[in-house]
Amino acid sequence: MTDPYINLTKEDARSILLMPDEELPKLLEAAYTLRKKHKGNMVSIHLLTNARSGNCSQNCAYCAQSGQAKTDIDTYELISCEKLLQDGYLVKEKKLARHCIGLSGIRFSDQEIVAFASEIKKLKKESHTPVCCSIGFLTKQQAMILKEAGVDRINHNLNTGRNYYPNICTTHTYEQRIANINMLKEMGFELCCGGIVGLGEKPEDVVDMLFEIGDLSPKAVPINFLIPIKGTALEHQSTAILTSEYCLKVLCLARLLNPRSDIRCAAGRELYLKGKEKWMFYAVDSVFASGYLTAGGESIDSTIKMIEEAGFEYCIEP
Ligand code: SF4
Repeated sequence: MTDPYINLTKEDARSILLMPDEELPKLLEAAYTLRKKHKGNMVSIHLLTNARSGNCSQNCAYCAQSGQAKTDIDTYELISCEKLLQDGYLVKEKKLARHCIGLSGIRFSDQEIVAFASEIKKLKKESHTPVCCSIGFLTKQQAMILKEAGVDRINHNLNTGRNYYPNICTTHTYEQRIANINMLKEMGFELCCGGIVGLGEKPEDVVDMLFEIGDLSPKAVPINFLIPIKGTALEHQSTAILTSEYCLKVLCLARLLNPRSDIRCAAGRELYLKGKEKWMFYAVDSVFASGYLTAGGESIDSTIKMIEEAGFEYCIEP
């Protein structure tokens, strides 16, 4: 009998997202087979530092850092090296997998990149932890400066399906995102590329996004579930679609389409998958701890406890 979960077409993938909840156990088993084969029972934890916050020129509808959002967040230019190092030491002390560093904004001056690269150099010298940066669109020269400073992985999410993208952002295009990713990949950066579910898109948009991500062969695929933030354009977006069953189907589909990648359950896990972590880890081998860019989250110690209670192993980096 052929496995119904291999060589999926987009129509198969859409059917998975729309399948009755009673069929979820079979889907979880299929995801777990791949997860076990490629990742064992390990779960890695990532820490996220918001290195520059707010005042962004872009209008991403979900984002509290957009200059068009009327949110009550701390806004600041590049954080101090001390604060970045503090988080770096925490990553080292807790033996977390990677230090992820996000900067609000889409374009940076060369001086800003040079200043940031000098912080990264100090961080790498002190903490020796792997670093991933989420840093908008870079020029080739800027990307090279960061590479030389020790950044080996870049996060650049697609966020949603190509057709739905104009509904969530009109200040840049999907194509610009793909072009930036391809340039970085050609330069030898590892890619972290994921998206957000619950933006008002249809299941076929999620499918389109996951297929595009699969074509880019990322090392890591962070999947966020929308937390509507007061003051953003999606403040009143219904999250009724984000049942824990639907979220699990999305995560399983991400695993089926990207069997070797780290599938990371990012923002929204504490909200939509609380108490379902055991099932989440059937597909997912990576999570964030200690919060997200502008939203709080579960602490590192309690995340480690949650992983162990779900019957999985916290992946301690050497
Ligand atoms: S997601 Fe990034 S580019 Fe979009 S508004 Fe937020 S900080 Fe700016």
